[in-house]
Amino acid sequence: MTKYQHILLAVDFFEQDEVVIARAMDLASVYQAKLSLIHVVDTMPIVDAGYGGDMPYSVDLGNELLEIAKAKLLNIAEKLAVPEDCLWLETGSAKLEIVRVAEEQLVDLIVVGSHGRHGLALLLGSTANSVLHHAQCDVLAVRLPAS
Ligand code: AMP
Repeated sequence: MTKYQHILLAVDFFEQDEVVIARAMDLASVYQAKLSLIHVVDTMPIVDAGYGGDMPYSVDLGNELLEIAKAKLLNIAEKLAVPEDCLWLETGSAKLEIVRVAEEQLVDLIVVGSHGRHGLALLLGSTANSVLHHAQCDVLAVRLPAS
């Protein structure tokens, strides 16, 4: 039986994270695995249709988002007793960053929700789907209720 040694839990700070977190915690406990957490702050330019797509990305807003995300990630880490050196707060595309960090940190299981903010209309959310297709390691998409 595969014994997972390093689990990467991807959190998007939506309510349903709780279900995903609980599953990752269970698995980390069963396998006595190291648990790391990742959150990715999307840095796609903030575009308002009224500006015809020319509105520049605000650096201040980006920094503010990063600070909020950091506080939330630390809060979850504290509850789960995950040390700071196992936290990954990245910027860019969640799809790419989750896979990249997993490879760099020799993760052998990625845990994501079946959908989050992007996936309510899909059977499998877009992030989950992309991670599932591109990760080199196992991926667990924790089934979440539709709403
Ligand atoms: P989605 O496919 O975007 O609906 O989201 C599915 C799952 O991907 C979520 O439950 C999270 O586990 C993960 N995820 C989505 N967005 C992020 C993000 N920005 N940072 C970390 N994990 C994410």
